[in-house]
Amino acid sequence: MTTHNADSAAALEVELVPILQDNYAYVITDVETGTVGVVDPGEASAIEAALRDMDLTPDWILLTHHHHDHINGAARLAESYGAKIAGAKADAARLPKLDAALIAGEDWSFGAQIVEIIDTPGHTVGHIAYHFEGAKVLFSGDTLFAMGCGRLFEGTALQMWQSLRKLAALPPETSVYCGHEYTLSNAAFAKTIEPNNPALIDRVAEVEALRGEGLPTIPTTIGRELATNPFIRAFEPAVKNALNLPGADDAAVFAQIRRRKDEA
Ligand code: ZN
Ligand code: FE
Repeated sequence: MTTHNADSAAALEVELVPILQDNYAYVITDVETGTVGVVDPGEASAIEAALRDMDLTPDWILLTHHHHDHINGAARLAESYGAKIAGAKADAARLPKLDAALIAGEDWSFGAQIVEIIDTPGHTVGHIAYHFEGAKVLFSGDTLFAMGCGRLFEGTALQMWQSLRKLAALPPETSVYCGHEYTLSNAAFAKTIEPNNPALIDRVAEVEALRGEGLPTIPTTIGRELATNPFIRAFEPAVKNALNLPGADDAAVFAQIRRRKDEA
């Protein structure tokens, strides 16, 4: 399934490649230059098959964080296609050897695309997200999921909350491509927090229909997450009231929601 994004000047094609248990890798093409990338190859063979089908050769491998289900195919793809590897400089010691050691807060070029590298600690401390500004596309790794967020394996709740706030500030129409198809279980949890949120009720019906047909629920958008994702909505009075935490600090409310999900 290929999605075309944004104004033709900055078009980026994105192909979802389901891998492993419930991960998504992505094959991306900058239409103007024909530059091809693979985001988070947690294994090589499914991606090699997808590239063969599309008759594409990757120039770049883009990594969001060091977990094996996001990097295990990187070295083999780099070797067999002569692709270069991009990832967070700050986490270089835990990533395959980087050809582009990216510094969060700085822009990177992928073909004709300007890519904002966003520091998103929380799930891991060296996690980054790739924001293709012109195409309005975000690769959020295991930071922001559809109606969910990543577990706090290394960072603190405050760090994750601040990371989510940065992503929430992107244009609402931004397409979000995340690292896992966790949407159904996230939806079930979201309903326990905001059972009467009309946007959430509609969306749960929609994702249940998609999964019933075996279709991906990705991409989502920043706007849809702001309307339905309880983690990114921790600042909303409605969410605070639902948790009996009126007037509480946003990050504390987020931490409480994260705890509940961990225990669910
Ligand atoms: Zn991970
Ligand atoms: Fe993961």
